[in-house]
Amino acid sequence: MSKTVYFFGEGHAEGDPKRKDLLGGKGAGLAEMTSLGLPVPAGITLSTELCNQLLAANKSVRDDESVKRTVLEALGRVEKAQGAKLGDPGNPLLVSVRSGARASMPGMMDTILNLGMNDAVAEGMAKRTGSPRFAYDAYRRFIAMYADVAMGVKRDLFEPALEEARALVAKERGIDPRTMNSEELRKKVPDSELSAPALQTIVQSFKAIFKKATGKDFPSDPYEQLWGAVDAVFHSWKNHRAIVYRRMHDIPEAWGTACNIQSMVFGNLGETSATGVAFSRDPSTGERKLYGEWLPNAQGEDVVAGIRTPLVLSARNEGTEKGSSLEAKMPSVYREFVAVSEKLEKHFRDAQDIEFTVQDGKLYILQCRSAKRTGRAAVRIAVEMAKEGLITKEEAVLRVDPSAIDQLLHPTLDPAAPKKLLARGLPASPGAAQGEIVFSADEAEKLGGAGKPVILVRIETSPEDIHGMKAARGIMTARGGMTSHAAVVARGMGKACIAGCSALQVSYAAQTMTVTVYGEDGKATETVTLKKGDLITIDGATGSLYAGTVPTVPAGLGGEFGELMVWADAARTMKVRSNADTPLDAKTARGFGAEGIGLCRTEHMFFDEKRIAAVREMILSDDEPSRRRALMKLLPAQREDFVGIFREMDGLPVTIRLLDPPLHEFLPNDEKQIEHLSGVMGVSAEKLRQRTRDLHEFNPMLGHRGCRLAVTYPEIYEMQVRAILEAAVLVAKEGVKVLPEIMIPLAISKAELVLTKGIVDRVKEEVFAAAGRTVPFLYGTMIELPRAAVMAGEITDVTEFFSFGTNDLTQATMGLSRDDAGKFLPSYLEQGILPKDPFVSIDQEGVGALVQMAVERGRKAKPTLKLGVCGEHGGDPASIGFFHKVGLSYVSCSPFRVPIARLAAAQAALRARAQA
Ligand code: PEP
Ligand code: MG
Repeated sequence: MSKTVYFFGEGHAEGDPKRKDLLGGKGAGLAEMTSLGLPVPAGITLSTELCNQLLAANKSVRDDESVKRTVLEALGRVEKAQGAKLGDPGNPLLVSVRSGARASMPGMMDTILNLGMNDAVAEGMAKRTGSPRFAYDAYRRFIAMYADVAMGVKRDLFEPALEEARALVAKERGIDPRTMNSEELRKKVPDSELSAPALQTIVQSFKAIFKKATGKDFPSDPYEQLWGAVDAVFHSWKNHRAIVYRRMHDIPEAWGTACNIQSMVFGNLGETSATGVAFSRDPSTGERKLYGEWLPNAQGEDVVAGIRTPLVLSARNEGTEKGSSLEAKMPSVYREFVAVSEKLEKHFRDAQDIEFTVQDGKLYILQCRSAKRTGRAAVRIAVEMAKEGLITKEEAVLRVDPSAIDQLLHPTLDPAAPKKLLARGLPASPGAAQGEIVFSADEAEKLGGAGKPVILVRIETSPEDIHGMKAARGIMTARGGMTSHAAVVARGMGKACIAGCSALQVSYAAQTMTVTVYGEDGKATETVTLKKGDLITIDGATGSLYAGTVPTVPAGLGGEFGELMVWADAARTMKVRSNADTPLDAKTARGFGAEGIGLCRTEHMFFDEKRIAAVREMILSDDEPSRRRALMKLLPAQREDFVGIFREMDGLPVTIRLLDPPLHEFLPNDEKQIEHLSGVMGVSAEKLRQRTRDLHEFNPMLGHRGCRLAVTYPEIYEMQVRAILEAAVLVAKEGVKVLPEIMIPLAISKAELVLTKGIVDRVKEEVFAAAGRTVPFLYGTMIELPRAAVMAGEITDVTEFFSFGTNDLTQATMGLSRDDAGKFLPSYLEQGILPKDPFVSIDQEGVGALVQMAVERGRKAKPTLKLGVCGEHGGDPASIGFFHKVGLSYVSCSPFRVPIARLAAAQAALRARAQA
């Protein structure tokens, strides 16, 4: 094992900042900032390897004498650097103990602050700082935090003691606390107004509560506290919310977390002290300006917890009242901070999220990391940094997570639509969302999971709410700032979020929210009460809450996004096509930059209300002539569809798949339809009923579908090929450049493809002869079944292209039903049996190996073979990386995912180039 304990302080760090795998993101950042000469309080990082080792052996750090000895040695250096000593009442050092994994997981794991406190230390701190209030405030915060995090004593248990103290203060001021609820009392008597003696009493009560809950005295030995805290931080890697977060963000279980023990500095030593969080660029829009929040006389958790509404850093940037900004209150600290922020951004060549504290007028930098940002901000920051010369265009392309640009591709509120503005909060995460109000994460999960659009409304959110936030369309909170939990997590998820909407009063008990609506003149005009289930619309880009459902308009794709896409297109080698079934889909896809249609599912046209009767007639016919009669009714409609699509895709290839699904999907499903058909076809209703029963299949997915249909009823494909080629000839005569590709689904053998090619050739002769001209087109097949992948070398004899239908290929290879897997796949993912849903992201080792084999065998037999993919995986960034590696010519995905696929394909190409 590598070294497990790394010291940093006094301009020197033992850890290598590049080793995030060992030091975690936070530890690496601290090491790097220390080496850069920034004012970082000294500390120690315990490695992720130590975490993994202890977790695997289910051991406590207490059990390992050698690690403890090393920690204590390093702690000696920290004490020397800070000129203070853990547990020394005369000159006490207090430390924070924090988690920090390789990837940032905000709020998901545990932290303990003010460690090292006991009665003697608190008294010593009170003397040294001249502020007993400060000392006992830190002490009581430490007890509650340590009890909760390290000993599992819930924080709520301590609340009554605090409330009692608040009530006493209220009484002293002549206010009767019985006339208000806890929330109102907390507003009347904020924590900052509890006196030193009151806090001393609270400390005693907290210790008694701890003893009652655990049966033990609260540990007063700082070293005992330290080992307990280290264990708690390491174990928090395994807590529920961390596991959920890891799964959502594809963070491997095996990484583990590092643990950082760092000297505390205090932002709550009085009015010359402060704490804050800042972003070197605006995390919502990406604009280049220092953006952040601070609070005088406060600890870091006060800013993020949303208990006090934070102030802005710079009045100039935020456009708010000048008097309360850090720039106005502490101008020299502000200037120093601006310089630090610029230095960090230049050094890391990325936007930074920086935590700072001012203790008695001296600035300390506690943490910096690459800033979480919205998709919109990610694009703007990458493009602007490339233009500033900080990064290359290629780096800019690699900087933007393809799934994050999803947010940009979605609609925003229609500015012209009438809407009733109820209130405004902070624009915490852009996007518009509409849905029913729910007040708990569980409810959001229940209704959201059932497909209902919901907006999760909370006073504030905590990491326990993450499952509900995931299921909701949007999130709204009454309290908290732009760096509150709700804001940070929503931005990461790309969900619309309004935070800190103080006009909102939420009652969980009554399941209502009451909004005071203000007019233009700032006067309250009315009070509106909404209940669970009522519809609202939120606009996270402006922080506005509207009544009811407000219509939306499509996303705009210009500006920086357009520029980034130009750079991406220059970098990629794979083409990106779209799956589109109608002229409208084709138009949308082209608008998003699709370079052709990779899959047109012709059956989708059959479900049209005007056509379904003819389709049913065709299926229920029991002889060829009647089937042909029905098919002739469908021919003009099919031809018309293809004409529309070809015109939209002028100059680009269009792959059209012949009929694929089991016929029974089109069967009449009620008596009325049977009666109607009986009249049209002149066949008795009973006969039609019998034919419907005959068509029933036990396993339709493996039944009479795909090219099996053409083996039994060649006239179906005959009609479809005729419609395609007649349409092609027609538009070619108009001057449209048409490039059809006829594709046969679900083939398993060369013989099937010879048969269907026979149909195509026959129709081709007829159509071209009648038209007096020809149109070039390709003939190919889907590779959707394992046998087809294995037989790829032979199949190429009769085909000019393959398109991998990875939906069916996944189903058939894994033996997992596409339609039923939802019932059991979640358990597979929860238990880590499968790393990802194989219908979303391709199973590279299994299904992917078949794709690779078919590519190799196909290309070997026919080097000119064109290869693409049209299953859902064609829009999944990780799968796109894989398809690039195996050498596909293009991917095809739904229209809205085309830009994501363009970016992912560019990244795959750039990564491959970097490795070569
Ligand atoms: C596939 O199977 O991957 C495919 C694209 O076809 P469908 O989803 O229509 O079965
Ligand atoms: Mg298929």
